[in-house]
Order: sequence, then structure tokens, then C-alpha cells
Amino acid sequence: METPSRNVMVFIEARHGEIADVSRELLSAARRLATELDGEVEAVALGHGLGAALTELGCHGCRRVYYIDDSRLAHFSSVPYARETARLIRKYDPQIVLFGATTMGRDVAPRVASELRCGLTADCTALEIGDHAIKDVTFSRTLMQIRPAFGGNIIATIVSPESRPSMATVREGVMQLDAPDDFLPPATVMTEPCVLEDDAFLTEVLEVVRQEKAVNLPAAQIIVAAGMGAGDPDSLSLVRELAKTLGGQVGCSRPVVDAGVLPKEHQVGQTGITVRPNLYIACGISGQIQHRAGMAEAKRIIAVNRDPQAPIFSIAHYGIVGDVREVLGRMIKAYKTKA
Ligand SMILES: Cc1cc2nc3c(=O)[nH]c(=O)nc-3n(C[C@H](O)[C@H](O)[C@H](O)COP(=O)(O)OP(=O)(O)OC[C@H]3O[C@@H](n4cnc5c(N)ncnc54)[C@H](O)[C@@H]3O)c2cc1C
Repeated sequence: METPSRNVMVFIEARHGEIADVSRELLSAARRLATELDGEVEAVALGHGLGAALTELGCHGCRRVYYIDDSRLAHFSSVPYARETARLIRKYDPQIVLFGATTMGRDVAPRVASELRCGLTADCTALEIGDHAIKDVTFSRTLMQIRPAFGGNIIATIVSPESRPSMATVREGVMQLDAPDDFLPPATVMTEPCVLEDDAFLTEVLEVVRQEKAVNLPAAQIIVAAGMGAGDPDSLSLVRELAKTLGGQVGCSRPVVDAGVLPKEHQVGQTGITVRPNLYIACGISGQIQHRAGMAEAKRIIAVNRDPQAPIFSIAHYGIVGDVREVLGRMIKAYKTKA
């Protein structure tokens, strides 16, 4: 009997011909998992005209890309993408499949899981390989899917060893993106036909209107974030001014979004964006676990809070106890003087 593959597959997303950052991050994660499994990293991609971009994924450790190039797939469409992805997963039988927890990944992955009758764990914050014992049976080298549960109050490890493949979604910024390794060979792009009839395409995209995001937190190297302690207009304008002075962007906690002070695209945390900037300045943020889930990996954290017991201080590299208005005012003055 043939030994089942121990490969790790990544669902590749492309936007306007460019591979999405989340897909590269997932390839980095897949490489670490595949090493532990003695397997290889492969990918599945659907679209039109992506060939060269896919070959370059070799520098992230991807050995093969199963690629369906069809003009009808140039724009994302839930049903065709899910059906063709499920077909390729069935054909190549990887042990693990990873999707970005993006609009596209969150749409496709559950449909694929339903078609393949396998488990899917959404929004994982860590992925590991380990053994799992149920009664007398031990499943060796299975995927440990780690994510916050029950409102973030516990960290759960979820396994689905009895169905194949194990599938997980991961949000952008959660997995560490490894630097491209130019010594690795290019990925082999294996073109696959699209077997769908036209009537499987239930929608037709007539026009794509691009709207640039006002803020791109995952790419920001410096983030100045406002919590409820800095949600009033005066404090918020200081947060904005400090971010501008430092060449950074403005983030915030969820209650600041819920209160309508800033739009959702600024929200950092478990139900917002995960960031890994060089510097994160948390202003009037208590530091609950759901917020920390999105920023604890920042290289340097400065916390400003008037409560010396605020949990944010437990992860901050530098803590300043004081009123945000006073502290931020002095920081802006100091940085401007220095510049
Ligand atoms: C399922 C779920 C998902 C969630 N997802 C997220 C998420 O993605 N992101 C997120 O942020 N939260 C999330 N939350 C909410 C989270 O639990 C906290 O409620 C939230 O992070 C608290 O925001 P905050 O620190 O801004 O406000 P608060 O908890 O109200 O803290 C305000 C802080 O400001 C300080 N402060 C007040 N005034 C001043 C001042 N003048 N100067 C200095 N300091 C001052 C206070 O001491 C306090 O520490 C989630 C909750 C749940 C249940």
C-alpha cells in the first residue's frame, strides 16, 4: 500500500497579479511544518496569467504549484474556486492544507472542508506538529491547530487526525514571513485544466473598482495605537500627531472602533489585525488578551497608561505611567526636537 503523502499545501491568493503577503507567510509556516513531517511544501493556485509569479514561490520553499490558468478564474468566485481547489486537494492528497483567513480564504476553506468532509480550524495563531492520543490510539505527527477560544480566555489546541487533510486558516501577519532564500530552486508550476462547465460560474464580474486602503497596518513598521484612554478628540489628535512625527500609522483597540471613533481597519487584536511592527506605542490601552493577541509580537512595545497595574505593562519593553495627553505631548516635542 502506498504511504500517504506528508506534504503541506498552501492555497495561494493573488491580487491584481501579485501574490498576497499572507500566502508567502503561509509558505514560511508550511516549510517549518513540512520539515517536521519529512514532507514537501506545495501549493494550489487558481487564476489567469500568474505563471511567473508562481515560479518565484520557490524562494519560500515551495516545490510545486498546481495551477489552474483559466480566464474564467481571473476574478475570485466562491463556487468554482472551492470546487476546483477541493478537486486538486483530493488528487494530490496533502496531509495539511493552509488558507489565509482573508475574505477569499474564509469563503473557500469551509466549502472545501465540507466537500472533502474534513476538519477546518479557523484563525489559528500557531501551528505545530505533535502526537495525539485518543484512548488506545496514538496519531503521530499530526497538526496541532492552536487558537484562542471562548472569547480569548483560553488557548485551545484543536486536532482532526481522523480526517484528511487537516485544514486551517491563519490571518495575515500571524505567521512569521521568512526572508526569501534565493539559493532554493524555482517552484515547478504544474498546469491543471479547469474541468468546470460554464454553468458552474454563477456570477460574472463586470467591473473591479480598486479602493486603496487609508491604512495598511500589517506593513507598518511603527504603530501608535489608541485605546479607550486615548479615545477622546484631544488625545486622538495627539496619537495621530505622534504617528505622523514618527512616520508611523494609527492603530486602536476594539472599543475605539465600537464607539465609532476609528474605522475597523485600524483595529488591532484577535478580531482585528495582527501586526509585527518594529515599534508599537500603546496609548491608554489596558492590554487585555484579545488586544495582545494582535500585537504581542511587536519588536518593541512602549505602553502609556495612568494605571500602573494595567496588564499592558506585563508585555511592554518600556512603560510610562501617566496621562496620555501629558506623556504624548512630551514625546511629540522630544521627537520633533530630535529630528
Ligand atoms: C471575542 C472578543 C474579541 C475581542 N477582540 C478584540 C480585538 O481584536 N482587539 C481589541 O483591542 N479588543 C478586543 N476585544 C475587547 C477586549 O477584551 C478589551 O475589552 C479591549 O481590548 C479593551 O480596550 P481598551 O484597552 O482600549 O479599553 P479599556 O479596557 O477600557 O482600557 C482603557 C485603559 O486606558 C487607561 N486610561 C484611561 N484614561 C487614561 C488617560 N487619560 N491616560 C492614560 N491612560 C488612561 C486605563 O487605565 C485603562 O487601562 C475582544 C473581546 C472579545 C470578547
